[in-house]
Amino acid sequence: MTKIPFRFNNRFFNELPADTETANFPRQVYNACYSSVLPTQVRKPEILCVSDEVKDLLRLSSEDCQSEWFKTVFSGNKLLDGMQSYAMCYGGHQFGHWAGQLGDGRAINLGEVIDCNGNNQTLQLKGAGLTPYSRTADGLAVLRSSVREFLCSEAMHHLGIPTTRALSLILTGESVLRDMFYDGRAELEPGAVVCRVSPSFIRFGSFQIFAARNEKKILQQLIDFTIRNDFPHLGNPCVEVYEEWFEEVCQSTLELIVHWMRVGFVHGVMNTDNMSILGLTIDYGPYGWLEGYEPNWTPNTTDSQGRRYCFSNQPQVAQWNLYQLANAIAPIVKRTEFLEGSLKSFYDLYKQHSQKMYSKKLGLKGHNGDRDQKLIADLFTLLQLTETDMTIFFRLLSQFNPESCYSDEELISVINKAFYKPEEVKGKVKSKIIHWFRDYLNRLSQQDCVNEDRISDMNRYNPKYILRNYLVQKAIDKASIGDFSEVARLLDVMRKPYDEQPEYDDYSAKRPEWARHKAGCSMLSCSS
Ligand code: AMP
Ligand code: MG
Repeated sequence: MTKIPFRFNNRFFNELPADTETANFPRQVYNACYSSVLPTQVRKPEILCVSDEVKDLLRLSSEDCQSEWFKTVFSGNKLLDGMQSYAMCYGGHQFGHWAGQLGDGRAINLGEVIDCNGNNQTLQLKGAGLTPYSRTADGLAVLRSSVREFLCSEAMHHLGIPTTRALSLILTGESVLRDMFYDGRAELEPGAVVCRVSPSFIRFGSFQIFAARNEKKILQQLIDFTIRNDFPHLGNPCVEVYEEWFEEVCQSTLELIVHWMRVGFVHGVMNTDNMSILGLTIDYGPYGWLEGYEPNWTPNTTDSQGRRYCFSNQPQVAQWNLYQLANAIAPIVKRTEFLEGSLKSFYDLYKQHSQKMYSKKLGLKGHNGDRDQKLIADLFTLLQLTETDMTIFFRLLSQFNPESCYSDEELISVINKAFYKPEEVKGKVKSKIIHWFRDYLNRLSQQDCVNEDRISDMNRYNPKYILRNYLVQKAIDKASIGDFSEVARLLDVMRKPYDEQPEYDDYSAKRPEWARHKAGCSMLSCSS
């Protein structure tokens, strides 16, 4: 008999109130944090990919990950002893409107285990079948969206950005009907399940649902549970601790958004049910990465009119979402002035943090107040003079040597690779670019810094590799015809996003022209 390396510690299941109804049918669930539900059996599971790092985190061996028990358990076909499966109840604001109960409509938690660092990790299958929260949908996930979730969770982790993780990607052998373009042409697609891993899957919407229903007792229970388990350093829950907790949630959310802005990540669906209480990136749907720097770009076709969730709106939306969380917890926290204080300072703090972030991206040392602010403000104008690849642009900056003298032509040639239409770099556009670079080089030459240190600091902050939209789509296209090599390769490239990796140089190239308007490469629907 194989020894299963997990020790279960199912706090959420054991300590919070459960739905008393145990049959599995769609319904409104009152006075409960979750409903017990079993994953749906699947026909022919096949392991496609396992993350080595998450495998190690969970103390699994390579043999475990190729074993029959792994495939059976992480496809949802069997529970291990000690596992207790359930779907969580939560609500949320979707696109600015209260949507009522949402909940885990296709995610099923298997239980909590202790990782190799002694921390709790919840194992969750996404795409594991119907739950009481499935509403009118099918509870399933297709291969393309599962590849996207799996790859991006791990890419974000390696970029140093807080995120839920992904242990495995398993084909179910089932076919799933999806209308990808919402045009009435539904097609069968291969079904898949991702095992997500996170210390907690609690969202802003987890608190909102109880506030909306005036279920105060359970709201308090959930707040206290969250503080005790996920914020133990704050001490025993009490009014002062609630205030500190909210401030910490504001802080971690702010730091998360600064990271997203640093690497050009656009979440795409920042509804309050997709906001983690731990400040993690969660729920990878129609996300995307800025290629040409375009502040109002959104990858989500559903959002193409309002652009609520476009790149540059992410900080404001995060603050708006925090307001909704504050409203939800206010009946328990009581001293709402404090919550208001944290919310009001959010934007100023964001500005300070983002200023620091851009200074680091530019390799600026020390503080040079107004001058640096102007350099950064001018940078945003510069990036939009002609379509400029954000990632390549910042990565190339480290190659300038402030001690060298550059002619105008030499200067442009250093940065030329970042332009999608180099032929546009002439006349006024060209002189503005040159003007900014002269200011920039001048600023660099005045700081006291060893050049090699600046280069390595910048290269550890400005990734060379991001999970470009078209790269993921290429991996999905191959996977759809049974070739999973590109998924594995991308996972490998994204392990070291700040390293040069000459063997993978192609993966750092700017988006090819064919991908500019191709579905999946530039725009994505929510259908997943
Ligand atoms: P999302 O936009 O992915 O965050 O999903 C919003 C809500 O819809 C959540 O409650 C999801 O669980 C639910 N949902 C999304 N897709 C499905 C599906 N295929 N089956 C059941 N519920 C789903
Ligand atoms: Mg969601």
